[in-house]
Amino acid sequence: MTIDPSIGPDKARELFRAELADVRTDAELQALRTRWVGRKGSWVSAFMEALATATPEQKKAFGRGANELKKEVEAAIAEREAALAATRRPADAVDITLPGRPPRLGHRHPLSLIRDEVGAIFTRLGYQVLEGPEIEDDYHNFEALNMPEEHPARDMQDTFYLQTPLMPAAHAATAEAIALRTPALRPPQPLTLLRTHTSAMQIRHMEMNAPPVRLVAIGPVYRKDALDLTHTPMFHQVEGLVVGKGVTLADLKGTLAAMAEALFGPGTGVRFRPSFFPYTEPSAEVDIQCIKCKGAGCAMCKRTGWIEILGSGMVHPAVFEAVGYDPNEVTGFAFGMGVERVALLKWGVEDIRLFYENDLRFLEQFGL
Ligand SMILES: [Zn+2]
Repeated sequence: MTIDPSIGPDKARELFRAELADVRTDAELQALRTRWVGRKGSWVSAFMEALATATPEQKKAFGRGANELKKEVEAAIAEREAALAATRRPADAVDITLPGRPPRLGHRHPLSLIRDEVGAIFTRLGYQVLEGPEIEDDYHNFEALNMPEEHPARDMQDTFYLQTPLMPAAHAATAEAIALRTPALRPPQPLTLLRTHTSAMQIRHMEMNAPPVRLVAIGPVYRKDALDLTHTPMFHQVEGLVVGKGVTLADLKGTLAAMAEALFGPGTGVRFRPSFFPYTEPSAEVDIQCIKCKGAGCAMCKRTGWIEILGSGMVHPAVFEAVGYDPNEVTGFAFGMGVERVALLKWGVEDIRLFYENDLRFLEQFGL
């Protein structure tokens, strides 16, 4: 309705109330405010102008009404403004009507998959799965494994030594417990190096436990290797040890054949080649039939049909003597392989560094 003060304040009030009832938004309220109490051209300003030129009778007739209308309009607009503000979403509010972001489900690392798979294979075969300290002493890492000081075998592994040897309380306590069980063994040694193989854990386990033994130790090991396609200074090893009465090379071969089939598929053959390790005698490198060409010969196996996968052998009597076992009473076998090596072969990955670069495009290709 056009602004016409001649309708009088009472009719104008009814009109205002009807218009206010339709206001839903801040913009509509703003328009209403301009129309009713704006400085110029509004209902209230029209009334004021009309009053300025009115006769005394007219002023008397609706002067008060016009002022009351102005107050009511201003109060009602302020009230509605507050009501709208109260329902308005704060700037940082969460809009619950937006579609959600699905949570990103992480993957297990491919090396964890291999570690768990190998652990599961040997758990089924009745093995204990152990970890153990990554910081070791010379004794457990070398000497007890038939590599005394000056032994040339120590040159086979380039070792990270600690600048300051450690003797944490927990280590001293374990060492004392060992000394109690087998008083002839060495007193506690300070920790001096990052273990170069998980075999150190085998020594620790045998020191604390009488035979029989059936364990796999899985975990990181450290060697001063330059980073390249197939080497990293830190990698993971899984090593197995079985000790008991009458354990033979045939048991070792059967165990590794079963592992190869479980890891690389049924029908995966294994072959043993004579080798040397200070802590086993006899020792053997173990090859699996090439998983790509099934033995026919391809680039991956350098046309041989076989791929080297691990080292193994019968536990050297000197190792048993070091842990207080009687080599005339028990025999045993041991084997060790790289977790990364298995992963490279199993998935045809050509660069070991991919496992450490945390590139999701690579990591997401592996299952959960
Ligand atoms: Zn091949």
